[in-house]
Amino acid sequence: METTVSLVQMLDARERRVQHQQELLARYHKPLICFTMNICGPIKDSPLIRQGFARGRQLLRQQFLRAKLTPLYQYPCRTATGCEAFYVLDADPLTIKKFTTDIEDATPLGRLFDMDVIRPDGLKVDREELDLEGRRCLICGGPAKVCSSRRIHTVAELQEKTTEILTEARDAQDIAIRDISGRLYLSGPQAETLQQAAALPAGDVYLTLTVELFGPYDSAAAFARDCYTLTALAKQCTVPPENLHFTWDARSPAESSLNTGSLLYTEDYSLDLSGAVQLDWTEQQMEQQTETEYLLDAGNIPDEGE
Ligand SMILES: [Zn+2]
Repeated sequence: METTVSLVQMLDARERRVQHQQELLARYHKPLICFTMNICGPIKDSPLIRQGFARGRQLLRQQFLRAKLTPLYQYPCRTATGCEAFYVLDADPLTIKKFTTDIEDATPLGRLFDMDVIRPDGLKVDREELDLEGRRCLICGGPAKVCSSRRIHTVAELQEKTTEILTEARDAQDIAIRDISGRLYLSGPQAETLQQAAALPAGDVYLTLTVELFGPYDSAAAFARDCYTLTALAKQCTVPPENLHFTWDARSPAESSLNTGSLLYTEDYSLDLSGAVQLDWTEQQMEQQTETEYLLDAGNIPDEGE
């Protein structure tokens, strides 16, 4: 599964990316983001690297939502030379650069992200245009350019650090509940708080948990994956819930797509789990039971007859 790649393959991949960029610029005349991972050593693709990359794409989508932007075009792909994704955006290149550098600088994982912003004329936006410092070295935190040109750290050291960052980021996903606004409902006359409920004898407590996920999600599978993770966590609580209701409301992206005039095919997701059997469902079962609601008018839903 983990194949090593040669320098020639890397150069070919770079050339392919440049070609793709030029095609996109010629077609849209709009700025674009080219997102790749900065992975040292001959192995550029692994499940761990893909998970880190997926997190990067999720962070980008969140920024797009906040900025009320809908990409005119997006293209994620994965090859032995690594993951890459393109986004064409109808926005000011400096605004775009601001949120890609925010992502790159916010976390250790961000140091592994290479989110280039390319202007319609093909020139890259430089960090200095926003008065930002250059990228930081993974290991010592010094200027990355200095460390890499002087080869201050060995490949082995860099690989070890990269794996550590990717592993920590993957494990932290499980506690990314900060992105979720949860609501608690307690039934039963004696309990008004979770603490009171926890103190009651088992059987007296009936807990229904409604969790509104932060998202955004681009598929029921992605939604179900988070529901599955959260269900596993909820079952470990002092008072395990008997009913779990998950929702994700895509209204905001739909609004923004309406504002920008490009109608998106947008869906809402919800999943209800009740009782021990459903709470023990696998990720696949949860995906199958996820209710999908189409948000925009019927004309926006892809026609099956076509
Ligand atoms: Zn360094």
